[in-house]
Amino acid sequence: MKLPVVVVATCALFLYAHGVQIITSPSGLIRYAVGDVESDVVISAAHDGAMEPPEYGKRYPNGCYDNGNCVFNSTYCTDKLSVEVCSTTLTRDTHTLNITNHLADRIANGTGGVRPHIIICDLARSVVDVNRHIDEATFGNDNAAVVFHEYHYYVQQALGIAASGNRTVFFLDIHGQTGNNKTCLGYLIDNDVPDGLIQDVVPDSQAPNTSLAQLVRVSGQSLDALLRGPESIGGLIESSSRFQVIPSPNNPISLAGFYYHGGINLHKYAVDTVIGIQAEINVEARRTEAVRKEFSYLFGDAVLYWLKNFF
Ligand SMILES: [Zn+2]
Repeated sequence: MKLPVVVVATCALFLYAHGVQIITSPSGLIRYAVGDVESDVVISAAHDGAMEPPEYGKRYPNGCYDNGNCVFNSTYCTDKLSVEVCSTTLTRDTHTLNITNHLADRIANGTGGVRPHIIICDLARSVVDVNRHIDEATFGNDNAAVVFHEYHYYVQQALGIAASGNRTVFFLDIHGQTGNNKTCLGYLIDNDVPDGLIQDVVPDSQAPNTSLAQLVRVSGQSLDALLRGPESIGGLIESSSRFQVIPSPNNPISLAGFYYHGGINLHKYAVDTVIGIQAEINVEARRTEAVRKEFSYLFGDAVLYWLKNFF
């Protein structure tokens, strides 16, 4: 795949923890746990950061409405239209880094110790949101922009290594949400629109617009089967647990609450030979360490099933 070249200063810090090389970015706010060269899995934990150094500025609950556009900068607009039309999200996806680590452990265990690549943003979402366009991501703060570019630089590095040998790559963007009481898996398909999950069968002709295009090409599975058949990620998780996932055979569409269909990262990276999922994990599956581990292992087992059977 072709990736844009972004120059990041090279004074990154290299550390080894339990045999894993951890690269800390020049700002100190992005970490890249380098996976094994044999790994075709890249996992992102973008929204569980807690650090709020003042020099990185702050994001506001909304941008400014100006002539049909939303402008995101250091000015905070509180007029009704700006608040209604240009809202953004500042909340942390609590415990999703913990889930990311459990997920990576499970995948490594199931592949003979081959560790996935992990990219972590430690800067709080109230300061930067790397899963948005840069204006909304940084509200015009130059330091936050440096961190934004560092995150994407390491994701691209990881995807490049994962793709070596022309492999199909699995990109997992791990998030948490409170707007739906079921976990939502986003594949760049909407819910209740004519070409969304509301269809009886989502046709393969839509595959190029989804984050599963490459898998429909190489797996022998239909798009609809991959989205919500018994061997879908949702189907595999639900079949052996009490966890509820949309989409899946039991929950082919979202009937209540928001549905999270995937954001900028998925649009940007789940292209060509990369497939991707934006996992929006519900509150219940993130509540305690035991539950997080249970959910992560089930999710990991579903990922392993795909790697073994469909890649
Ligand atoms: Zn998130």
